Amino acid sequence: MKIQWDTPRFAVLRDRELCVNCRICEQQCAFGVHKKDEKTGRMQANAALCVDCQRCVACCPTGALQIRPSENVFRPHAGWSQDARQEIYRQAATGGVLLSSMGSSQKEVPCYWDKLLLNASQVTNPPIDPLREPMETEVYLGRRPDKVHRGPDGKLDTTLPPHLELKTPILFAAMSYGAISYNVHAALSRAAQALGTYYNTGEGGLHRDLYPYGANTIVQVASGRFGVHREYLMAGSAIEIKIGQGAKPGIGGHLTGAKIVGDVARTRMVPEGMDAISPAPHHDIYSIEDLRQLVASLKEATGYTKPVIVKVAAVHNIAAIASGIARSGADAIAIDGFRGGTGAAPARIRDNVGIPIELALAAVDERLRQEQIRRRISVIASGSIRNSADVVKAIALGADAVSIGTAALCAMGCHMCASCHTGLCNWGIATQRPDLVAHLDPDEGAQCLVNLVNAWTREIREMMGGMGINSIEALCGNRLALRGVGLTQKELDILGVKHAGE
Ligand code: SF4
Ligand code: SF4
Ligand code: SF4
Repeated sequence: MKIQWDTPRFAVLRDRELCVNCRICEQQCAFGVHKKDEKTGRMQANAALCVDCQRCVACCPTGALQIRPSENVFRPHAGWSQDARQEIYRQAATGGVLLSSMGSSQKEVPCYWDKLLLNASQVTNPPIDPLREPMETEVYLGRRPDKVHRGPDGKLDTTLPPHLELKTPILFAAMSYGAISYNVHAALSRAAQALGTYYNTGEGGLHRDLYPYGANTIVQVASGRFGVHREYLMAGSAIEIKIGQGAKPGIGGHLTGAKIVGDVARTRMVPEGMDAISPAPHHDIYSIEDLRQLVASLKEATGYTKPVIVKVAAVHNIAAIASGIARSGADAIAIDGFRGGTGAAPARIRDNVGIPIELALAAVDERLRQEQIRRRISVIASGSIRNSADVVKAIALGADAVSIGTAALCAMGCHMCASCHTGLCNWGIATQRPDLVAHLDPDEGAQCLVNLVNAWTREIREMMGGMGINSIEALCGNRLALRGVGLTQKELDILGVKHAGE
């Protein structure tokens, strides 16, 4: 008899009084948890297979289901959590690297957004009412000229570098077609167009159907160069060179052959069924000089019409890295923090490598200002931006704009079950299985994204108004708008904020 050392993490509770044996839960769960017992005619559940995605709960017409954390506990030990022991059982059984997805949930690494508070005007410098007075949420991303010249007629005669114009300081983060479904990319592109912002192809190329959304698309060039050709580079409004991402700094990407099917293979320009592995480094970038050459090549290939963004993970010496990138000719730097999401990553890397975006962002803004090169480059922050207050705090710490990935997926139904790497996403997001992809309607998804970003933008206006600030430009890097709570002096120094009460 094979004994299962691992224990189910969730309990599937079915109210027999409410269940009408309709089998919807069985049809909706790709993990095979629910089955009808043909002998008894009653629904049964194999809880060991459940990943707690909540799809069956949401779809059950009678509210008969609940998924809860399992109450079965191993003997407690102060140094060895149940999770630590279960991971050992899993590795002892398979000999494999522990794979996971979404962002790190390491409790020991603080989430600094929750330790920062915003200011509000009271008597002097009064608040601004965003309903009655203009409030600027538009953002321009790209290099700003050091000086602006006007001709004798007063007209501008400085050629401005290409830039991105956003109606709100929120972009959609890079997520590749292959890691996520066609319907998600379709929803992101439609929402970006409706909102006057941008979505990002990630490293998987751009599906032919989505070329018409190019004016709201950032096309990515990653180390695997999947789907990269001149037409692709010309199709977007900006090009992003991806060096690293917050969830897995220092390693490449791996999309299994099972997900390289049909249009995914065609779009990536790789054979069907073959694993798409992007190497850890770009094999043509080993210095800032090499990066400068790639930036210049991409600009030349696109007739100097597109801004170039360089995306890096937040790591220990991020300020020095950002300084180099600012001197490479890039127009913007995208910094992705430790808690950033992913479609698949080794769990050890995700949970132990990198630093929180809050500290990285503050350090980068400070360094670029000290070196008087802050205007040369825009800064985009990402890696666990959960609500509009996080957006405002990120901008006050020095970001020009933020990217949202996990929040965007949650707006389309994701329940953060961290099972994207299985390809069995019941919400139709991180999957290529046609029956599961159909679980997400791209028009409904786009509408939910539009609603979310509009709601956040309204809240951002209110918070800015409360602070007596009427533009994102005036909020950017304005650390006086922030106070810390429960932080050490060292943390406050790095964040560049005073403690609450000071
Ligand atoms: S969906 Fe709900 S009512 Fe239908 S079989 Fe499952 S638990 Fe029962
Ligand atoms: S994996 Fe999702 S759909 Fe399947 S039983 Fe668990 S919560 Fe329900
Ligand atoms: S995208 Fe799907 S599989 Fe990934 S965490 Fe969200 S619900 Fe789970």
